[in-house]
This record gives sequence, structure tokens and C-alpha cells, in this order.
Amino acid sequence: MKGLHDSVAIVTGGSSGIGRAAAERFGEEGARVVVADVDVEGGEETVSRVESAGGEATFVETDTSVEADVEAMVETAVDTYGGLDVAFNNAGIEGEMDATAGQSISNWEQVIAVNLSGVFLGLRAEIPAMLEDGGGAIVNMASVAGLLGFPGLSPYVASKHGVVGLTKTAAGEFGREGVRVNAVCPGVIDTPMVARGEEAGLEQVAQASPLGRMGEPEEVAAAAAWLCSDDASFVTGESLVIDGGYTCQ
Ligand code: NAD
Repeated sequence: MKGLHDSVAIVTGGSSGIGRAAAERFGEEGARVVVADVDVEGGEETVSRVESAGGEATFVETDTSVEADVEAMVETAVDTYGGLDVAFNNAGIEGEMDATAGQSISNWEQVIAVNLSGVFLGLRAEIPAMLEDGGGAIVNMASVAGLLGFPGLSPYVASKHGVVGLTKTAAGEFGREGVRVNAVCPGVIDTPMVARGEEAGLEQVAQASPLGRMGEPEEVAAAAAWLCSDDASFVTGESLVIDGGYTCQ
């Protein structure tokens, strides 16, 4: 069977942007989707979009930086749909921009808590649930900022480099038990996060890259869906760049 037919999937940060597009895509491919986010209204909107397209989804209010929330998120998947096959640990924040020497400790801690510890807590709760039923596939959200430095964004860059390392490590640990773990590294994608950071000039950065435009959330969702599907059965530990060629220049 192709795609995510008959699987149970979690998408964190599913109330907006790339996470919403992924929840919709996973639902279209036949997954039953647990949408997890701090934003309740946005999450309910995502669930109704998945359902309007004929899919099945449920929302669970989750702060991915809080251990008990992440455990409850996985329990929701198991209790509601009978197990867990697929997870997209996508939730993230951009934090405040400043040169490293001017960064506040609170911004550093918040960005690391959500973007890096959030992915760690996800893996920690999701992998045992997947092992209960023979394995699964996980995609973690990194960024081209997980591969390159970007002035003014040291907490974000450090968190995303951490996600790449965490992905390689977990892939090595659980491959033989049937869990594949990959990451995606998007370039500039047209979401509310990029709109909020207008002063960073990301749209101009995207226009200067080989494909000459920003990416769409659906283009990242398609890659995440592929990595989670059996079509990617020999892919693990990979950090897949989806950036319109930005990093090839
Ligand atoms: P977005 O702001 O549209 O969506 C992020 C979602 O994460 C929101 O729904 C938000 O409520 C949720 N969220 C934030 N903190 C959370 C927490 N503690 N617990 C649960 N949910 C939380 O942004 P987006 O662009 O869709 O970003 C999604 C992911 O993609 C992020 O990890 C981001 O770093 C990454 N990313 C984005 C781009 C881009 O250009 N947009 C590029 C590379 C990577």
C-alpha cells in the first residue's frame, strides 16, 4: 500500500504553516492524524480541514517543551487510534534576532526548549510507542539553519544543528528495531513564521536562490510524507534539504 494509508500519525505544530500542510497531506494519504500544538483555535481549524477533505484527525493541546504534554500527546494517539506509526516533530519558534553577544538568556532557553528539547521529548515518547507495534517512521524539523550559520539567529541555528545530530543518533540506535528517523531542512517557506520575520529579508534571500522564490508549506509536507512512507524504506539518518537550491550556491 502506498503513502500513509491506515497509519496513525502525530504532527506537532500542526495549527499553522508547514505543520498544518503536513496534517492535511497525511490525512489525504489515509493517515489518522493527531494534531498537537499550543494554539487550540488553529489546531481545531486544521482538524476541520482534514475532515472536510475526507480524512480523520483529532487535536490535542500540547506544549512540546513540556514532558507531560508530550507523553499525553502520544497517549492520545494510542488511546484514540490504537497505536503510533508516524510522527512529524515540526513545532518550532524563531525567537528574537540579535548578535550572539546580545542574546538574552531567556530567548536562548526558550528557543532551545521548544526547537531542540521538544524534538528530544517527542522521540523519547514516540519511539517506545512505535516499538510496541513493530516500528515506525519519524521526521524531525530542522532547517538550512541546521547546516549553516545565520547572523542574529544563534539560538535558532544551534537548536536546528542539534536536531540534525539528534536525528542521526536516534536513527543509529533504533534502525534495527524498525524505526527510521530523518530530518527535513527547509529553506525559506512562505508561512506565518517568515511573515513575522519580515525585517530579516528572507523573501529577498529566497529570490536570490536558484529557483528564485520561497517554498510553499505543501512542498515540505510532501517530503515529510514521503520520508514517513514505505517508499523511503531504505532512508534513515538523513537530513533532507528542501530549499530551492539555496545551499547549493
Ligand atoms: P508557524 O509559526 O506557521 O508554525 C509553527 C507552529 O508551531 C504554530 O502552530 C505554533 O503554535 C506551534 N508551536 C510553537 N511553539 C510550540 C510549542 N512549544 N508546542 C507546540 N506547538 C508549538 O511556522 P512554520 O514556518 O510552519 O514552522 C514550522 C517549523 O518549520 C518550525 O520548526 C520552523 O523552525 C521550521 N522551519 C520553517 C522555515 C520557514 O521558512 N518557514 C524554514 C525552515 C524550518
